[in-house]
Amino acid sequence: MVSRDEIINKAHELDFADIGFTNADPFEFQRKILKEREAEYAWVAGTGRDLMAGIDPKKALPQARTIIVLLELYFSKRYPRNLEPFFGRCYLDDDRVTQDGMALRLGAFRSFLNQNGINSKVPSDLPHRLAAARAGLGTFGKNCLLYSNNVGLRSSWVSPVPIVIDVEYEPDRPTFEVGCPDWCKNACIVACPTGALKGPRHIDPRRCVSYLTYRGSGLTPRELREPMGLNVYGCDRCQNVCPRNAPWLAADLSENERVKKKSSDFQLEKLLHMDQAYYEQRIRPHMFYMSVEDIWRWKMNVARSMGNTRDSKYVPELTRAFYENADGRVKAMCIWALGRIGGAAARDFLDSIRPLKDEVLSEEVEYALNLCG
Ligand code: SF4
Ligand code: SF4
Repeated sequence: MVSRDEIINKAHELDFADIGFTNADPFEFQRKILKEREAEYAWVAGTGRDLMAGIDPKKALPQARTIIVLLELYFSKRYPRNLEPFFGRCYLDDDRVTQDGMALRLGAFRSFLNQNGINSKVPSDLPHRLAAARAGLGTFGKNCLLYSNNVGLRSSWVSPVPIVIDVEYEPDRPTFEVGCPDWCKNACIVACPTGALKGPRHIDPRRCVSYLTYRGSGLTPRELREPMGLNVYGCDRCQNVCPRNAPWLAADLSENERVKKKSSDFQLEKLLHMDQAYYEQRIRPHMFYMSVEDIWRWKMNVARSMGNTRDSKYVPELTRAFYENADGRVKAMCIWALGRIGGAAARDFLDSIRPLKDEVLSEEVEYALNLCG
């Protein structure tokens, strides 16, 4: 049988940042949390996932004996400046659809296990951060994220990949603790713009900007539009403000060439005016949480983000988008964004479209004109 060290060497050879081992016992702590926070996680069932099933690794592989956890440092290289303020970093090089990046290395790792007589499964519902902490790979932050013990200058820019296998290996020592320094006065909780962090290690995902950008329903309520800021898809604020991440954020990283190649596709102007073919071919292979029917939500998010830049260069884009979109939610956000940017050109346009028959849009125009001052 292949040794533990040989498995570790293979993971490093395939460029995974770290690797740990834990047993295949159920994650009883996760069961307790899910029961206590049932209402906060009820929406997950609608996505086809079953978090309760993920508690027991034997549901994925009945002969489960060990969980190997690989750690991917997803922010090992710098991302283009036109992307970072608008998109969560963990989505910028996500190959879960294209299967042409980390998926190839994961496939090679599992082939290696298979060639050595080890069966493996990669269950998507297994609590991956808990598994990583149980495998000694990191401690928790009060923002609920995992902070690496060994790589990325101990930052949170890591994504754990748990692999359930049918062979027993010696487990690593768990590191379940919260590793935050006392002198950090809960900076992440204070900085969370929508109050999603309800306390140390307690997030209400329904209030998280990430959730709101890709799953929020209807027109974004007015009181969330400014707090959601520039974020079009995902949010990194509780990581950006964290002192545990400061060393990595200050590091001199080389640019991610793979992401740079597609970065122009994600320019706000292009996203605001995209059609279905553009979305399906250029965007959805990389950021796929929203269906084709949800292009309106992308555009609504982009319009809000443009408004929050307060940059008048977006006024012509927003006025054009107002006319080219039939969806009232997109139109309403274009109106709001124009008010948020303000200035003579925005005010003149808002004046010019009065009166509107649609009551909601009409009210948005009056509100936006007030914003313009
Ligand atoms: S990702 Fe953003 S909205 Fe979500 S908890 Fe962190 S700071 Fe709050
Ligand atoms: S901001 Fe402070 S409290 Fe929050 S995770 Fe970082 S160190 Fe911990």
